[in-house]
Amino acid sequence: MCSTGVLLVRTCVLLLCLAAAARAPPAKVHAAGTGNGLLGIPTKASLAHCPSHCGDVEISYPFGIGPGCFRQGFELTCGNTTGSPRLIFQLGNNSTQVIFIDVGRNQAYASALGYNITISLGADTYITKSWEAPTGVIIAPENRLYVVGCGVDVYMFGDNMTDPIGSCMSICTDNTEIMERTSMGYVACGGLGCCRIFLSLAGRQAFTLKLGRRNSTIALLDEALSSIKVIFSGYYHFVVGDLYASWVNTSNVEGMVLDIAITDQQSCASAQSQENKDTYACNSESICKDLPVPRGGYNCFCPGQIEGNPYVVDGCGIDIDECAIPNKCNGICHNFDGGFNCTSCRHWKEYDPKKHKCVMSAKQRNLILGIAIGLACGLGSISFALGAIVLTGRWKKDIQRKIRRAYFKKNQGLLLEQLISDESAANKTKIFTLDELEEATNNFDATRVLGHGGHGTVYKGILSDQRVVAIKKSKIVEQTEIDQFINEVAILSQIIHRNVVKLFGCCLEDEVPLLVYEYISNGTLYGILHENIAVKCLLSWDDRIRIALEAAGALAYLHSAAAIPIFHRDVKSSNILLDDNFTVKVSDFGASRSLSLDETHVVTIVQGTFGYLDPEYYHTGQLTEKSDVYSLGVILVELLTRKKPIFINESGAKQSLAHYFVEGLQEGDLMEIIDSQVMEEADQEEINDIASIIEACLRSNGGHRPSMKEVDMRLQFLRTKRLRKKTHLLIEKDGEIEPLLRSGTQHTHEHIDVPVNDTHLIVPMMSGCYSLEQEFAASSSMAR
Ligand code: ATP
Ligand code: MG
Repeated sequence: MCSTGVLLVRTCVLLLCLAAAARAPPAKVHAAGTGNGLLGIPTKASLAHCPSHCGDVEISYPFGIGPGCFRQGFELTCGNTTGSPRLIFQLGNNSTQVIFIDVGRNQAYASALGYNITISLGADTYITKSWEAPTGVIIAPENRLYVVGCGVDVYMFGDNMTDPIGSCMSICTDNTEIMERTSMGYVACGGLGCCRIFLSLAGRQAFTLKLGRRNSTIALLDEALSSIKVIFSGYYHFVVGDLYASWVNTSNVEGMVLDIAITDQQSCASAQSQENKDTYACNSESICKDLPVPRGGYNCFCPGQIEGNPYVVDGCGIDIDECAIPNKCNGICHNFDGGFNCTSCRHWKEYDPKKHKCVMSAKQRNLILGIAIGLACGLGSISFALGAIVLTGRWKKDIQRKIRRAYFKKNQGLLLEQLISDESAANKTKIFTLDELEEATNNFDATRVLGHGGHGTVYKGILSDQRVVAIKKSKIVEQTEIDQFINEVAILSQIIHRNVVKLFGCCLEDEVPLLVYEYISNGTLYGILHENIAVKCLLSWDDRIRIALEAAGALAYLHSAAAIPIFHRDVKSSNILLDDNFTVKVSDFGASRSLSLDETHVVTIVQGTFGYLDPEYYHTGQLTEKSDVYSLGVILVELLTRKKPIFINESGAKQSLAHYFVEGLQEGDLMEIIDSQVMEEADQEEINDIASIIEACLRSNGGHRPSMKEVDMRLQFLRTKRLRKKTHLLIEKDGEIEPLLRSGTQHTHEHIDVPVNDTHLIVPMMSGCYSLEQEFAASSSMAR
């Protein structure tokens, strides 16, 4: 009875305590920031800003931290009170630590909902603990309360202490047992180290636990074992706002499993209905599953897989590859999550439905192949042709070089090089290259031809240093004569005489030697006397004497003054050139050395040549300086008579001028054949004097002819005499000089050489028909 009374007293105390606890304000069930929770299905992009982890725990929607990151009712916070981050789910006044979220399975793992309670050792020690379930929590009837500890009495009451629910008692026999029990948890919990109470709490929202320490059998237990672990087991259904989540314990006392359930609508059918579709939680790919009563609600699963997130748009990771669907895109297809891009095939390609890609059509392939082959062949051919051209060009040039070198050797170029090597640089005879002369004459262009002679053709050319030259391309030169020819070239090129055409040099790279002379602008004496009477200037008697004198002087100089005697061998009026002052320039010295007797016949084809030929040389083949004297005699006759060396006489027959003159002289008919202009200007004495000189020159026996020097002197004498006469006349006429100088002709090219104490006053009286400047201008306008 007594013990019953004590129990009653204790019960009353407990009930009072529970009543006091029951008066405490009930814990509100809410989730922090619930108002910022989402309804509907977010996209991955819209959640991109949300924290993805708290400590090691990965957070997946519908759970989330912060506004816009969680579905309403699934808000988490990341706490750091213990020093390490902990993901916390707030449940009314209680919170639990979420340790793993597996949205694919619709589960989250949380730490156990339990308590460690310490009751000090000793009898009559009690502790009461009250819980009130959050609003809407439905505590399932099958729940149990496990108490793990030693020497503890447990009493459980309902809403108040007058409503006992159940009790249990746990004892331990030794330390080892409790140690094992503590590690085992509530498994096989039957009173030794662990006891349990079937709660049968259906419909109850609060309960109170009273724990008392038994004072028996625990004397040996030490303080460390005074801790008692109280664990709730079973379903706890929590309603958070419109949402619903439930926890269920597992066999592991340390952890709990949180099942995700969406309870804003009770079933998939109502959640998918038109009016609720804005808050429907499952994405378009996932499957909605109703949850069984009593929990109700639904949750979502990605089809056929537990990966992925069925609560986020495209969260299941299922993407329809539109590009693989036939005829969906007949072009370049780019598939991406939730869609695809289709662009038509680029140029030259078309869609291949078998390969599902753009390929080149056979036609285009062939075309491109054809073009490629064509290009390759074309380029190949061009390269081949170019190569061939280059090689042929090189080969030709090489051959040409060899030929030119061979000609150079054959033409004694090396000898000439030796001969001229000592000359001073200023007057050095140049050995021209064929290229230079080709360039100067525009490849020996026909328009550059100045005239054709018995021994070759003469071209006008302009050298790179702007010198105007006459280039004589000889006909064949006999090999035996070449050495001597070279010798003469070397000597002639050094001769500077005002009445000798300057030889600048030669080119030996051609088959025949090419001679390069200074260019003389006013043509030949032959041309002036016999061809251009109408257009050219008439020559005065004074001009004629001067020309004869200058020619004789030049020839005499070369016969005697040069290092070796140089015979002209082809003295004739066409080799007497006149410059722009009508000064004589004797040309072609030695150039006709190779002239053999046979060739002379050939030369006679050229008009005017035969008439100059020394008959002695003609008969004997012996060419001497007197041959030049004979030929000069013919020129003097030409000057006196203005008749060609071979002319047509009154009876229409060809006649040699030399014979004609000699006959006339012998027969005393001289005056009849003398040019009328000479008759006008010259006096009888002068005519007799010149006739006498001519007669001497034309003697058939060379030995009886005067030397060129003598001819020169006699002509000089003749001229001096005439000038003296003129000077007298001048003085007699009281200084009226003009009529005399004009000499009764319209034009004169006279230089008055007045011998005064051996010095000559040379006065150019009138310029020639062409001035040098005019000629140069005409030359430079020619294409080089
Ligand atoms: P040959 O061959 O017997 O000398 P040719 O004197 O008539 O006969 P070439 O010497 O070849 O013949 O000269 C041909 C023409 O070229 C001459 O008539 C003359 O008009 C011109 N000519 C020659 N040398 C020169 C020169 N240095 N300057 C200007 N013209 C010239
Ligand atoms: Mg000539």
